Formats: sequence, C-alpha cells, structure tokens
Amino acid sequence: MHSLAKLDHAHVWHPFTQMREWLQREPIVITSGQGSILRDVKGRKYLDANASIWTNLHGHNHPKINAAIQRQLRKIAHSSALGLANEPAALLAEKLVSIAAGQRTRSGFNRPSATGSRQLEKVFFSDDGSSAMEVALKLAYAFARRARGLKRPKFLSLQDAYHGDTTGAVSLGHINLFQKTYAGLLFKADRVMAPYCYRCPFNRARPERADARAYRKCNWECVGKVEQALVTRKKRGEPYAAFAFEPLIQGAAGMIPQPAGWLRQVTELARGHGALLIADEVMTGFGRTGWLAGEKGRKGESERIAPAPAFPFSLAAPFACQHEGIQPDFLALAKGLTGGYLPMAATLTTQEVFAAFLGEYEEFKTFFHGHSYTGNQLGAAAALASLELLESRASVFSRELLQRTLRDELETLWPLPNVGDIRQVGLIAGIELVQDWRTRQPFDWRKRAGVRVCEAMTKRGVLTRPIGNVVVIMPPYCTTPEQLGRMVRALREAIAQVFGSSAPRS
Ligand code: PMP
Repeated sequence: MHSLAKLDHAHVWHPFTQMREWLQREPIVITSGQGSILRDVKGRKYLDANASIWTNLHGHNHPKINAAIQRQLRKIAHSSALGLANEPAALLAEKLVSIAAGQRTRSGFNRPSATGSRQLEKVFFSDDGSSAMEVALKLAYAFARRARGLKRPKFLSLQDAYHGDTTGAVSLGHINLFQKTYAGLLFKADRVMAPYCYRCPFNRARPERADARAYRKCNWECVGKVEQALVTRKKRGEPYAAFAFEPLIQGAAGMIPQPAGWLRQVTELARGHGALLIADEVMTGFGRTGWLAGEKGRKGESERIAPAPAFPFSLAAPFACQHEGIQPDFLALAKGLTGGYLPMAATLTTQEVFAAFLGEYEEFKTFFHGHSYTGNQLGAAAALASLELLESRASVFSRELLQRTLRDELETLWPLPNVGDIRQVGLIAGIELVQDWRTRQPFDWRKRAGVRVCEAMTKRGVLTRPIGNVVVIMPPYCTTPEQLGRMVRALREAIAQVFGSSAPRS
C-alpha cells in the first residue's frame, strides 16, 4: 500500500463513509487534476464524473482561476470580516446581487429573473452549503418573530430534502437515515410531498422508456399536497415562517427533478399563504441546470433544452429559480461558487430582512452569527474568476453542447432492463437502477446496487458516487463530448457487468 494511503488509514476519518469498509481496501489517493481528469499517486487517471461531489465547474487546475488566486495571494490570503471589509468580497457581493437580479453584467447574464420588488440585495458569506442554509434558517426565524410577530416560527420543507449536515440544516431536511441518531438534538420542520414522478403514488402511467416526467398521468396532486399543508398551518393560527426547497431538482434525495411548472405553482401558493421562500441552490446554482426551459408546452427535459439558444446570453440563467421566474427571499449558494476550488458560501437576502436586524447597539438586533473565514479573500477571488468564465461566450457554448451530448449519451442506457428512470436537468443526471424496468421494483438497499455499479465504473477509470440506487453523472463544464461518452460508456458497461444484462453499443 502506498505510504500516503497508509497515513490516511491511520488517521483520516472520511465523511459519509463506513470506516470499517474503508480500512479494508487501499484508497485512491489523488495527487493532481487537469480539466475533467484526476490523477492518483500511482499515475492512474480517472474522469471526474460527479465534478468532485458537485462542486467543480470549469475543470481542475484552470489557468484563469489559478491566476486569480495567485494574484490575490500576492496581496493577502485572509483578513477577518468581523470589523473589516475587503476588496474581493465586496466585488463578489455586488456581482452575486447583479446576477441574482438577472441584471446585465459586463459580459453576460441579463435575464430578468422575477417580477416584484423583492430584490436580493444583501450577501452574508460563510463556508459551505450547510452553513449557507443555517444562515437562511436563522435569519428567517428571527425575521418572522421580529417583523411578522410569529411566536414560534415553523418551517415547511420537502420530503427527502437534504440541506446539509449541521444541526439546523439536518432539522430542515427529511432523510430519516441522517436524522434518527440525532432526533433529540433537532427541531421539527414539517414535511410535504415532493414531486417524484417515477415513484409517485398519484402517477397512473405505466412505465415507459422515457423520463417519468414526460409521460406522467396525474392531476398535480403533489401541488395540492403543498396547498393542503399551507392551509392547515394557517388554520392553526400562524403561517409558516418559510418554505425551503431545492429548485428544479432535489440532489441528495436521489436526483429527483420537478416537472416544469411545479416550482412556480408551489412557490406562488407558499407566498400566498404568507411563507417566505428559501431557495437552496447549493447544488443547482451557477449554470448546473442548463438552459432556460423551452417556453411552452414543457413536459420533460427533452423539451427543456430545445431549441438551441441564441446570443446574446439572455438564456444563460445561472440559477435554477430563474428558470421558473422565482424570486426567493433567501438564496443559499456554495459548492460551485468558487468553481469548486475553495470552501466558500453565501446567503443572499432582501433589504426587508436586513432591515429587521438594524437598530441601536443596545437593542441587540445584530445578527450574532459568523465564522472566522467569512468573506475569505482567496475564495472570493476564485469565485470572481469562476463567474467571469461562466459568463464567457465559450463557456455558454460548451455547456450547451455538453447538455445535448449528455442527453444523447443517456439515451443509450434505455435498452438496459435495470435502468428504470433517467432524469436529466441541464448538466445533472440521475440514473435509477431497478430490478426490472417493467415493474419499477427497487433493489433492496442492502444489495448496494449503486455502490457496485460505481465500483465497476472506477475500474473503468470513471469516478462518481451513487445515492442509494441512483447513479449520478454531473460532469465539469470543460468535459469534452468524447470524455462524456467515456463516462456514460463506463456506466453502461458497469450496469451490464453487475447485473449480467447485455450492454448494447459498448
Ligand atoms: N444543500 C444541498 C442542496 C446540497 O446538495 C448540499 C451538499 N450536498 C448541501 C446543502 C450542504 O452543502 P455542504 O456539503 O457544502 O455543507
């Protein structure tokens, strides 16, 4: 075993990992990266098919982001945001506010994102997605008490939601596995049905070889459920303080996309019943969800991405909320904010929320929250460079091509009987593995179907992590069509190998 692997085994405790299993085999030790390729200590190369757990945007070792960090490093790496301002954080805050508002920036985004006066004008920096959601939660809670007179503010969030692993974020989530050990530490957030067309009890359609959103037969009962929850809460005397959701697609829940129009309907209902909106774009932000929806008659993803977008960049909405014209009161960003380089996060909110924290010193309305590395200069410099790349014509074109290539490549998986559903939103794809597509019969999680398929992909030089029985493909934006083809081919062959089915077109 390599000496670094031995050190890792001796001392490193890995996240979301059964360490007994980890210690039974030699880990892959990454030493370098270039574009979509990761290289390990043994000189082996791997394609980074989940963009290093959904963080990387433009590829590893990008010359422009490297240069921006180096430039900043020559000035200063970090000074505290407690009592001091700094250059890149101020510039980044302005940039985030302008792209969230859909304003034209120097080179890029100009899609008006929403109607109404609720502009996101204030940016609270933190370190990761969980912290960004904790900030939203605490701000919404205090705002509800101070400005709206709610005595015990309550939150509504989606079935199987994941908003991070700190205590508040876990409370807001609804993944039992992550909650049950800590039940005594958590507060109660109400759960409401999320659309999961493939396994929806209200979907009367028989399985087809297509994204379940496209052929679903239902009456939007999932929207009705949200309305019911809002009405019930209001009848009890107090509306929800806020409704938290991942827009367009729930990630850790299993890459579960929402049918077009769902988000718009439920957020209008939530607002109508007095709830603020907390949009968790930790995974979906920064171009991940691709092109704006086709403007009419949308059913599934295939319609979402046609026709080819025209320039100027009016279609290149960087945030998922903008696809359905939603203006949240809180927008949580992390992962791709720095292009996947450094841990940095941001929670954007409105002047109205900000104002509830203004007062005389001795009133103690201050937001008593903040971490040592808040507004870190290196992270902010990386983020500014990443956003500039994101807006560039070259990036917009290559994302558009990649999205189409992904759609075409995923089509080749349908002939496999163990592929139940293929869900694509922009540059995010989840492939749900089942015992037989005709019955939608899931694999018992103890069979570790997703894990075994991903291990077989690793042997083929492609790295990703499953969510239960769902395999994720989320390539960095610099991935070439040929590399993407290799990622999907590895998946196709891995499925065939693990389940002994035939692998057409390998
Ligand atoms: N929200 C969403 C939607 C996420 O996908 C994640 C991470 N997978 C988080 C929050 C938490 O982010 P982090 O791991 O950076 O704390």
